[in-house]
Amino acid sequence: MSDKDLVATDKNLSYQAVTTILDSLDALIYVSDIDTHELIFINKYGRHQWGDPNGRKCWQVLQTNQLGPCSFCTNPLLLDSQGKPTGVQITEIQNTANNQWYQCHDQAIPWLDGRLVRIEVATDITQRKAMEEALRAAYMQAELLADTDMLTNLNNRRAFFNLGKQILYQAERNSTPVALIMFDLDYFKQINDQYGHAAGDETLIAIARIAEEQVRASDVLARIGGEEFAVLMPQATLDQALILAERLNKAFLANQITKENYSFSCTASFGVSALNAQVVTLDALIADADKALYTAKNNGRNQVQVAN
Ligand code: GH3
Ligand code: MG
Ligand code: MG
Repeated sequence: MSDKDLVATDKNLSYQAVTTILDSLDALIYVSDIDTHELIFINKYGRHQWGDPNGRKCWQVLQTNQLGPCSFCTNPLLLDSQGKPTGVQITEIQNTANNQWYQCHDQAIPWLDGRLVRIEVATDITQRKAMEEALRAAYMQAELLADTDMLTNLNNRRAFFNLGKQILYQAERNSTPVALIMFDLDYFKQINDQYGHAAGDETLIAIARIAEEQVRASDVLARIGGEEFAVLMPQATLDQALILAERLNKAFLANQITKENYSFSCTASFGVSALNAQVVTLDALIADADKALYTAKNNGRNQVQVAN
């Protein structure tokens, strides 16, 4: 065997070795022309998933329903304004042919004939994406639970203060009014004592549903204590809050909590306040509504009082 034959055989062996390695990888590797998108090389993983290229372009082989280059094609990013390779571009896309998610490492490299071509190394990250989605859903659920009162499904105290802070901040920025209604159920301990704790729970739920029907979507209705509720009303005046409080008072009085062995209604006492020149914070708004609520209790309950 001549020296020349030896070199040729070495080259063949090297070529076979590289091809064997590329075809054994659990990843897509392909090379395409940056300008024409024609596929120049695709490894076995790619051929197995998307078929043989047969002189077709990457977007015709690797995607479905593609009439031209993909909107997410990274080719424009692979060369700088002087036509020099920019390095590896990493993207994550869902393949339209098999719906799997891939992390793609794309770059421009010099090809055997001297031109710059695109090489992509893409690994299937579908499992990771599913895990990320499950984590995101779990996080959203946890967030929701952390802000929700489990008995009534209303906002809890934590959510009330968080949303309240935002509402006050917006109101200050836009110079818009904010009003607050606080109400506390009357003689609620007696309901528990007389009809049982379950009847008490049922009452809290019924009150929550009635209140929910009456408030606006932008109002923040919350259960802020055992049998204490609040309605924070962005862009509402004291008079508007007073009207809502009177409506709630009548609706609670009219509602009967009924079971085979009992039927009763549960009233509430209301305190109403609103932002003004002296009252500019959420704490001050609450303090005023609380004072008015205290007056309502002292004056015999089942009534609305306004802060003065
Ligand atoms: P007032 O008219 O002065 O407000 O009297 P009240 O009896 O409503 O007020 P009090 O503070 O004496 O009692 C409130 C009761 O609410 C005591 C507590 O056991 C009950 N309570 C608090 N949370 C819950 C709950 O989640 N479920 C039930 N069933 N009862 C609760
Ligand atoms: Mg009470
Ligand atoms: Mg109370």
